[in-house]
Amino acid sequence: MKTSRMSVKELLQSEDCGKEVEVKGWVRTKRGNKQVNFIALNDGSTINNIQVVVDMEKVAEEVMKKVTTGAAVHVKGVLVESTGSGQAREIQAKEVIVTGEADPEKYPIQPKKHSLEFLREVAHLRFRTNIFGAVFRIRHAMAFAIHQYFNDHGFYYLHTPLITASDCEGAGEMFRVTTLDPKNPPLLEDGSVDFRQDFFGKSTNLTVSGQLEGELGAMSLGKIYTFGPTFRAENSNTTRHLSEFWMIEPEVAFNDLEDNMDLAEDFLKYLIRYALEHCMDDLLFLSKRLQEEEKDKKAEERSMELIEKLQFVLNHDFERVTYTEAIDILKNSKQNKNGKFQYPVTGWGVDLQSEHERYLVEKHFKKPVILTGYPKEIKAFYMKQNPDGKTVAAMDVLFPQIGEIIGGSQREEDYNKLVTRMQEVGIPVSAMSWYLDTRRFGSAEHSGFGLGFERLLLFVTGMGNIRDVIPFPRTPKNAEF
Ligand code: ATP
Ligand code: MN
Repeated sequence: MKTSRMSVKELLQSEDCGKEVEVKGWVRTKRGNKQVNFIALNDGSTINNIQVVVDMEKVAEEVMKKVTTGAAVHVKGVLVESTGSGQAREIQAKEVIVTGEADPEKYPIQPKKHSLEFLREVAHLRFRTNIFGAVFRIRHAMAFAIHQYFNDHGFYYLHTPLITASDCEGAGEMFRVTTLDPKNPPLLEDGSVDFRQDFFGKSTNLTVSGQLEGELGAMSLGKIYTFGPTFRAENSNTTRHLSEFWMIEPEVAFNDLEDNMDLAEDFLKYLIRYALEHCMDDLLFLSKRLQEEEKDKKAEERSMELIEKLQFVLNHDFERVTYTEAIDILKNSKQNKNGKFQYPVTGWGVDLQSEHERYLVEKHFKKPVILTGYPKEIKAFYMKQNPDGKTVAAMDVLFPQIGEIIGGSQREEDYNKLVTRMQEVGIPVSAMSWYLDTRRFGSAEHSGFGLGFERLLLFVTGMGNIRDVIPFPRTPKNAEF
């Protein structure tokens, strides 16, 4: 009978006990004695390992010596009901072939607890740990769910450019894209670089957001979303900022701010529900790990259990509050009066820091919050101006542990108001003529937002550092691998 290779996930769920099977994977651990060895084998298909039972009379000792943590092996054997491995199935080996050895003296991922900091240094191998296997399976599932959600709701996936010539998106500092010789660039008479001689004939950068192009798409296709990498050269060494991160930006014609908030809340809840329905094994593992990490903390300092936390967000309406109300709450909070904020809240007009956002969510409302109506001075030029002349139709979604997870707004659709605002903040109107055309021809109210993919993953996985939810993080002074 011909046997065919199966994944560990398939084998663990198989009903075919007694069947000849083949599996290939990497050794997590091996234990045993002279008569029998047990190999815990994992191939990335699931957090769970399959146990391979090796009768030492059937497999050469020479071969078994090479079965060490990290080695790649090919096992042929019989699938049987398991009695002791904690899993439903195991394999009784007939043949073990080591296809790639992993010298225990040199292989960095040994079966012991490694710190996340250490694993970041060996990010090229950290996928082989349980924790990063879980994180990156969840990352995949969330990416898939994002496309699923938008496809099911009639959105079109729009690919916006990564190289952009507009430097006025205002979302952050940009990385320059150039082919000019850094040692000897062509200069203009005033000594500045002559970018007319650069590759694109003008100065270009990596995009900080696909929104402006996204608006162009929405103003004809109706509902679009982008999902791609964005780049910010901001020198913020925090646990929530990357220099290269992935962003999801839906943009919808004829949506007002209310519709935008409804979309953001429905979308986030869909993604969390999807994780609970499709990633339970991995979530349970991450939850157990978090609880172990916190077991020495006092009860009141421990965070909510991961799965409970996800269900909590799913089962509660997000609190919708204006910026003005939030400032009142923050200003009058004990925290503020006792000088416990690093940035004291002095009054209306200040930008909110992460500590303020988290106070509102974790201490005051005790659930996710959507803040609206920010002062126009602290928000981007394209946001719709409210009749009060002071605020704009912005919305930030704030989450526990994260702070801002989504930033969005209704966009200014009035040509004159938009141009006036651009002039006020010094944005070259002529260079943005293409953008303004949506307001010149068939303008309509429209709204959208940006969700930071890695911020979402921080929340869903419970990981504490954004560097641990993207395979190869780019941060200031760090572009390894
Ligand atoms: P923050 O104030 O947290 O730095 P922002 O206001 O600069 O964020 P936006 O320009 O509104 O961010 O971007 C939309 C979303 O992209 C944010 O809500 C956040 O989820 C995510 N985001 C922004 N900057 C980063 C970054 N450097 N790394 C990872 N995600 C980010
Ligand atoms: Mn923002």
